[in-house]
Amino acid sequence: MGGNDVNGNDVDGPEKAGAGQSGADVRTGDDAADCLIVGGGPAGLTAAIYLGRFHRSAIVVDADEGRLSLIPTSHNHPGYPGGVHGCDLLADMRVQARRYGAELRSGEVTKVIRDGDVFTAETTAGAVRARTVLLATGVVNLRPPVEPRAHDAAVAAGQLRYCPICDAFEQTGRRIGVLGLDRHGLAEAMFLRTYSDDVVVLALAAPDLDDDAREQARSAGIAIEEVPVSSFDFDADDVGLTLDDGRTLRVDTLYAALGSRTRNDLGEALGTELSGNQCFVTDAHQRCSVPGVYAAGDAVEGLDQISCAMGTAARAAVAIHNDLRKADGEVLQD
Ligand SMILES: Cc1cc2nc3c(=O)[nH]c(=O)nc-3n(C[C@H](O)[C@H](O)[C@H](O)COP(=O)(O)OP(=O)(O)OC[C@H]3O[C@@H](n4cnc5c(N)ncnc54)[C@H](O)[C@@H]3O)c2cc1C
Repeated sequence: MGGNDVNGNDVDGPEKAGAGQSGADVRTGDDAADCLIVGGGPAGLTAAIYLGRFHRSAIVVDADEGRLSLIPTSHNHPGYPGGVHGCDLLADMRVQARRYGAELRSGEVTKVIRDGDVFTAETTAGAVRARTVLLATGVVNLRPPVEPRAHDAAVAAGQLRYCPICDAFEQTGRRIGVLGLDRHGLAEAMFLRTYSDDVVVLALAAPDLDDDAREQARSAGIAIEEVPVSSFDFDADDVGLTLDDGRTLRVDTLYAALGSRTRNDLGEALGTELSGNQCFVTDAHQRCSVPGVYAAGDAVEGLDQISCAMGTAARAAVAIHNDLRKADGEVLQD
């Protein structure tokens, strides 16, 4: 992994995308912020903290629909031996970002366009002009058909889960259901076998598994339930799953393995390159393929974890600062 040195130079080799461009080749009118950060999850707020500490002006516009606030307690985020509630981590990061001068606005960014040397954004919290844009918009998990309030209560209670890497440890030895009878769901079930010998994969729609995959599941000791789930009951301590044929299965916890959607519309409209699974493609410094646009967090290719969101955002903030210094002639010349 390469980096930026204090002189703003790339210290690694050729990059995945945007190779050779400064990223922020824009000059500013006086009223333009240094960076518009779209999204105030762990990625957006980490970038805001770093940029503030570089004496850069950053405006964070956040619709507050992020995945961090859904986490009841994270036990794998380093530095919190007793675990940390998602909402508490978010609140602390907001305080820290404000301490270093970031402006945090509640609202949605609906449009970003390049306007000469700057970007202009339409948001539900007022217009923003900025020299650079960081897309920290995250992803949205595809949900089972459960009414929103019941869904959120089930997630808060740990009955419904989305991330085995995050929280399977706490499910060791329990009855685990995985919703999604396709290769993605089966791969998740295989991962979960490390934690329990009682894992069942359930269908939401018609199964999409070939014979070879079924045989692998059988060899791994994973049960497959072919009859689709028709309703979910999170009212008890465990989870009741009623199938189309009227039977009810019970598990201690249910992982939804239904995939996710990247919030990439603003970047797509700006012309940024997207990967096959629709994440933003960036170089090693989080620059997108459009100069002046950067991306971090779940919205870029990689592991969807808080620590990775923070890491990519830290890299993005350093690149933004150094690219702006270069654009302003504030680096040591060769
Ligand atoms: C139930 C659950 C449990 C998890 N547990 C863990 C765990 O224990 N450990 C771990 O490391 N990870 C965990 N994760 C994953 C973790 O939450 C994410 O990796 C992390 O939140 C990603 O941060 P982010 O900033 O990229 O995105 P998010 O936290 O999703 O934040 C993105 C923000 O951008 C905003 N946004 C998007 N588009 C716009 C727009 N146009 N205008 C304004 N705002 C916009 C959204 O509203 C949101 O607030 C869990 C996820 C879930 C769902």
